[in-house]
Amino acid sequence: MPFTRDTIEKALQAGYAAGTAAKGGKNADYIPFLASVPSGLFGLAVVTADGQLFKTGDADFAFAIESISKVFTLALVMEAIGIDGVHDKVGADPTGLPFNSVIALELHRGRPLSPLVNAGAIATVSLVPGDSADARWAAILDCQSRFAGRGIALSDEVNRSEQTTNFHNRAIAWLLCSAGTCYSDPMMAVDIYTRQCSTLVTAADLATMGATLAAGGVNPVTGQRVIDARNTAPILAEMAMEGLYTASGDWAYDVGLPGKSGVGGGVLAVVPGELAIAAFSPPLNPAGNSVRGLVAVAAVAKELGCNLFQPR
Ligand code: GLU
Repeated sequence: MPFTRDTIEKALQAGYAAGTAAKGGKNADYIPFLASVPSGLFGLAVVTADGQLFKTGDADFAFAIESISKVFTLALVMEAIGIDGVHDKVGADPTGLPFNSVIALELHRGRPLSPLVNAGAIATVSLVPGDSADARWAAILDCQSRFAGRGIALSDEVNRSEQTTNFHNRAIAWLLCSAGTCYSDPMMAVDIYTRQCSTLVTAADLATMGATLAAGGVNPVTGQRVIDARNTAPILAEMAMEGLYTASGDWAYDVGLPGKSGVGGGVLAVVPGELAIAAFSPPLNPAGNSVRGLVAVAAVAKELGCNLFQPR
């Protein structure tokens, strides 16, 4: 581990100060629950690939994982059907489009474009093995829990708020079905997809989930192998290409790390082999990324000199 505890602690404080100074943004309001989360909350956490946790601010506040769940369901499906099995059915190309774009499901060599935007994510959920909706859902919840190293649970309140307003995602699922790229009942896929977005995590959980990817698939806190080491590289590649909505390219250019954000205000970045950085703050910029979260995670990464494209 190239970083001392002191170096990480200082980077965390610098990130927290930078995030606190970042103003503006607005909670997502197309999901009624998200509009009601206090906008002033702000937490930041780092977990190293050898399991040390650093956190500050509201890092233990539980919020809706939303789009960040896509990373872990991709991991689950990759475990089940292999890297090529996923790649045959869901593309691996940046979309440059909003997360809920219907254009992102237009076939690209016979597949929706990316597992990290809704169209490809719903197709990915449809590939989760299981005899019933309950079995598939249990597998997703178990996967999120193994990544986090604790039992992750659904928020009935978030789920209800999403299930009663997710008309757009249901339309995407039917379009996937008509294109032959939804591999289960489409309404089952969208129901489970909506649930996977409605679990509650903290910034500390997210950093642990990311550290599991940084550590080659072993949760560094529990010591449990969660996924095959070979699967981490394609997952991180997806995050680098499509993790921050339409700002994914800017993020790669500025920060140079695989990342994923969610409209609940979470932001995660992974430094392969070393650590993960996670932030939570509800107000979003127009691209759908947490204003403070982006600034804070980028500042921690810069303090630590973690840009993957910058030789050390
Ligand atoms: N459940 C949300 C949706 O599909 C997640 C979106 C996001 O975080 O990007 O609309």
